[in-house]
Formats: sequence, structure tokens, C-alpha cells
Amino acid sequence: MFDFHGRVALVTGGSSGLGFEFAKALAGQGADVAIVARRADRLAENKSEIERTYGVRCLTVQCDVCDPDQVRSTVAKVIAEFGKIDILVANAGIGGRGEAAEMSDEDWMKVISTNLCGVYYFCREAGRNMIQNHYGRIINISSLYGLVGKKNMCSASYSAAKGGVIGLTKALACEWGEHGITVNAISPGYYPTELMTPWIDSDKYLEFFRTRCPVGRKGNMNEADSTILFLAAEESSYVTGITVPMDGGWTAG
Ligand code: NDP
Repeated sequence: MFDFHGRVALVTGGSSGLGFEFAKALAGQGADVAIVARRADRLAENKSEIERTYGVRCLTVQCDVCDPDQVRSTVAKVIAEFGKIDILVANAGIGGRGEAAEMSDEDWMKVISTNLCGVYYFCREAGRNMIQNHYGRIINISSLYGLVGKKNMCSASYSAAKGGVIGLTKALACEWGEHGITVNAISPGYYPTELMTPWIDSDKYLEFFRTRCPVGRKGNMNEADSTILFLAAEESSYVTGITVPMDGGWTAG
């Protein structure tokens, strides 16, 4: 179980944070991986680490997920290199805060475009290949704030996009189930990535975790591995359309 040798995974947002963690988890089980993001230097460093540590092939592709043409050519490059895409982890995302009544159109669209449109573009392009192959595992990365709101968080654009990812995931699961493709989402709680760097180790957040999170702390990066492997596995063929909260119980209480 959970042997990924011979599988090809494409992970967006693979230049840092959870995307890099997911790519390493899949490579650790034998998958060849393509990591995609805008920062070429970070992708190159991550490729070296993945190939050196896990002995799999790693392709890097520079791509802005907001641009459907770049997404199309990225998926084509991955298929040209590896022959197929078995697993898509649509993870690239940005934060988005600001009072809803004051938000500019540009700020709203930037978050929707990256966190929702970018996920859809990759699902569409990789999904076409998966339909041809009658096999696929798609994992879209939502958020705790795609499931719940929080007083004073001011996350209208982020929550709209992340809630949209959950709706998209369910719709695609229904549309593509008969093609052997499962489509699921993960909603992370708080993990120590660049996205969270300004806040996560502050006294305010430590107190917030202690009092609000059932597990009482932030997530550790390696605590993300088992969820991605479960949803990406061939063996999980009857699990589709769900969102797995990877959040220390936040959304339970
Ligand atoms: P990071 O900031 O470390 O990673 C974000 C990744 O997304 C980077 O690799 C970045 O690459 C990529 N990215 C952002 N915008 C674009 C773009 N336009 N085109 C291509 N790539 C892009 O944050 P996380 O690892 O935390 O975030 C990963 C996902 O997890 C996001 O979707 C986030 O919303 C979600 N999440 C994270 C939580 C956390 O606590 N960390 C909590 C809930 C959800 P580059 O800049 O090189 O393009």
C-alpha cells in the first residue's frame, strides 16, 4: 500500500511551504514529481534536494497559475517529460486580508485569480490527460477558512476562494468519477510556512492556538504528509469529493 513508483505527480506552489512538503512526501514513496511556481531559484534548490534525497526524477516549471496559457504549456511540458500526470496537487496560493467594505477590485481579483482560478486551470488541463488515461488523483488545497469564518479575521476574498475550491472539488468529483479520477480537497489549519511567517510564532498566535485549537498548537510540516499520501494513493479509489481538515481539530470545535 502507498507505493508510488511509476506514478507522476504535479505539485503547484512547489517552491516553498506545504507544496514542497507534499512533493517530498510523494517522492519519498517513489513518485516522479514536477514542481511548479514562479521563483526559479527556489524550484532549482528543491529539485536538487528531492533528487538527492529520494532518487526520483524531478522537473521544475516556472509558471504563474493565474495565466491559463502558462498553465496549458506547463501541463504540456510535464506530459512531454514524463508521459502522463497521475496526481495533481493544486496547492499554490496567497494570503488575502482586508476589510470587505474597503477592498479594491484588484485585491479581490488577485486572491480569487490565484487561489481559485489557478486551481481550476490546473484541474482542467491535467484532468484532460487523466480522462484519456482513465486514471487520476486530484487534491486541491483549500483552508480552514474555506470551511469557517472568524471574527476580526477579515478574509472575504481568501474565504470566498477557498470555499470555491471545496465546491469545485465536489463538482469535479461528480463529473469525473466515472473516468477513474478522484477529486478531493485538504483544508489545512496553521502551518509554519512563508505565508504564516509574520504571525505564527507571535505570543498572540501561541495563545490563540492554546485556547482555540483542540490539539493546542500549530501543525508541524511533516504532519501534512500522511493526508496527501492517503488522498493520492491508488488504493483510495472509493474516496472522492471530500475535504479533509488537516487542522488539529479547529473545525471540530
Ligand atoms: P507559501 O507562501 O510557503 O507557499 C505558497 C506557494 O504558492 C509558493 O510556492 C508560491 O510560489 C506559490 N504561488 C503563489 N502565487 C503563485 C502564482 N501566481 N503562480 C504560481 N505559484 C504561486 O505558503 P503555504 O505553503 O502555506 O501555502 C500553500 C497552500 O496552503 C496555499 O494554497 C495556502 O492558502 C494553503 N494554506 C496554508 C496554511 C498555512 O497555515 N500555511 C493554512 C491554510 C491553507 P512562488 O512565489 O515561487 O510563485
